[in-house]
Amino acid sequence: MGQSNTVRVAVLPGDGIGTEVTEATLAVLEPLAKRHGIGIATETLPAGAFHYQATGDGFPEASFRAAAAADAILLGAMGWPGIRQADGTEIAPQLDLRFRLGLYAGVRPVRAIPGVPVALADPRARGIDLVLIRESTEGLFHSRGKGLVTEELAEETLRITRTVTEKLSRFAFRLAQRRSAQRGRPGKVTLVDKANVFRAFAFMRSVFDGVAAEFPGVGSGHHYVDAMALDLVRKPWEFDVLPTENMFGDILSDLGAGLVGGMGFSPSADIGDEHAVFQPAHGTAPDIAGQGIANPTATLLSAAMMLDWLASRGAGQGFADAATELEGAVDRAFAAGLRTADIGGRDGTVATAKAVLARIGG
Ligand code: ATP
Repeated sequence: MGQSNTVRVAVLPGDGIGTEVTEATLAVLEPLAKRHGIGIATETLPAGAFHYQATGDGFPEASFRAAAAADAILLGAMGWPGIRQADGTEIAPQLDLRFRLGLYAGVRPVRAIPGVPVALADPRARGIDLVLIRESTEGLFHSRGKGLVTEELAEETLRITRTVTEKLSRFAFRLAQRRSAQRGRPGKVTLVDKANVFRAFAFMRSVFDGVAAEFPGVGSGHHYVDAMALDLVRKPWEFDVLPTENMFGDILSDLGAGLVGGMGFSPSADIGDEHAVFQPAHGTAPDIAGQGIANPTATLLSAAMMLDWLASRGAGQGFADAATELEGAVDRAFAAGLRTADIGGRDGTVATAKAVLARIGG
């Protein structure tokens, strides 16, 4: 941490609606920080597809170094159709950050916000409150950029290591303990795997079970990924904390977002032992970029996760209080009738940020 009660946040707005939702979020963070007597010094850094187009470098080393030196990283979204590296892959500094900073825990809360339409008609869907934890440094993504391609075949390799699986599992159980204390109900961690078919997942399961034994007060179980896809639609209200492999988490977290209003309501945090990146789960949405209608809620909730994480790292109670207040203000604003364009409403990016701000300190 920097000066007492002041943290340094590296801000990477990126491309498309990434810049719009970031600006809206900073406009809420500033008064929130003032109100709680906490210091947030931001530094905006260039990176992304348009930076690549202009300079030939999607993620300048200076931006990476400044981000790595900050206490936390807030990211908008990056990438743009038609702007590709020479090998045809996307410009994705967010993936570089995950790998280079060892951000193994991709935390993806799936929570029904009061007033925001949910996809399921069952009234219990209003109580959906689970967290997917997408392992974000290995799994199938271990192969990113390294796959074998010949004229006749293509091959990618999935990797699961003991070290990362142990860290991921411990992270999941600690999170379940915390959620249990906050919510006054028992916690449960369910590993999502495919242990019936692949030895790598049988290995992952055995390592997970070893860690589960360290947490006798928290429930633990396993679910095959195909069954989980079904049950996330049939009875998502029954789940609590769901750690899983990288590719499975990539897919299931979009399914989760679809349950509770869509990508505009899905925050995320990529957390490692020393660093963390907070960003909305959505991309740059070229179809709506520049129109002022992007929903900033996912980014606002990601910022709340950032404040909470900083508090857990010793930044001070003011950060924890600010996190709680920001999440509460989002809930109160939607409960009071705020409706963004992605759920059929008329409230744009700035109006949404203003409505949330109006519920801070209220
Ligand atoms: P990526 O591959 O980077 O995840 P994508 O273009 O496939 O990106 P997103 O950008 O995440 O997907 O979003 C898909 C669509 O969902 C967008 O085109 C847009 O219509 C809608 N969308 C996503 N985020 C938001 C948002 N914050 N507010 C409103 N609509 C959004």
